[in-house]
Amino acid sequence: MRGKLITLEGIDGSGKSTVAEKLRKNPEIKAFGPVFTREPTRGTLTGDAVEKAIQSDTDQLAELFLFTADHAEHLAKLVKPALENGKIVISDRYSDSRYAYQGVTLKTRLENPIEWVKNLHRGWTIVPDLTILFDIVPEVSIERCGKRGEQSKFEKLELLRGVREIFLRVAAEDPERFIIIDASRSPEYIEKEVAKKVLEFLNRN
Ligand code: ADP
Repeated sequence: MRGKLITLEGIDGSGKSTVAEKLRKNPEIKAFGPVFTREPTRGTLTGDAVEKAIQSDTDQLAELFLFTADHAEHLAKLVKPALENGKIVISDRYSDSRYAYQGVTLKTRLENPIEWVKNLHRGWTIVPDLTILFDIVPEVSIERCGKRGEQSKFEKLELLRGVREIFLRVAAEDPERFIIIDASRSPEYIEKEVAKKVLEFLNRN
């Protein structure tokens, strides 16, 4: 039987990585033998290219293709084989991050960037079975990250406002797949809530 794909999404500093680490150590989740992964991938040609691109002044359309190439590599080398082996895959960021981020960065370049980027993925991506959206206002998430990132605070705030809005819109269009978590709460609350939702899903499927 095909395994299940669970993704963690949200703006920078929403606490995804913190929770992914906790889930990794959670004994009840461990019992399902999940594979933990992330996008951009680490230690790959495509993942390194993405990291370099986001740290330099790369054209935003070029950036989209690098992210998408990394997604293809991630699917081919890790996600697909794991799912075919019946594994549970938990990914810190995945395709919805592209719809949300490039939906903002390409809004002056394309007429309907979200649909355009979704279409670019259509036919070869694997749609997640469950997506946990860590929802938080960027004012708080930026504060949490401190000096992380190169952009000015204002630029970052503007970008993340738009990204959050798209995440919420994409989630509203697919309520069966998405669970929205209030990511402004304490780490303990969020960890408990996410673990509960993931376990409910795994026990049901
Ligand atoms: P993301 O992976 O979504 O970018 P991180 O998990 O790296 O976010 O968290 C960003 C920062 O916020 C880290 O310094 C982390 O310790 C802190 N953090 C994470 N979750 C919470 C929380 N619920 N409350 C307060 N700070 C948090």
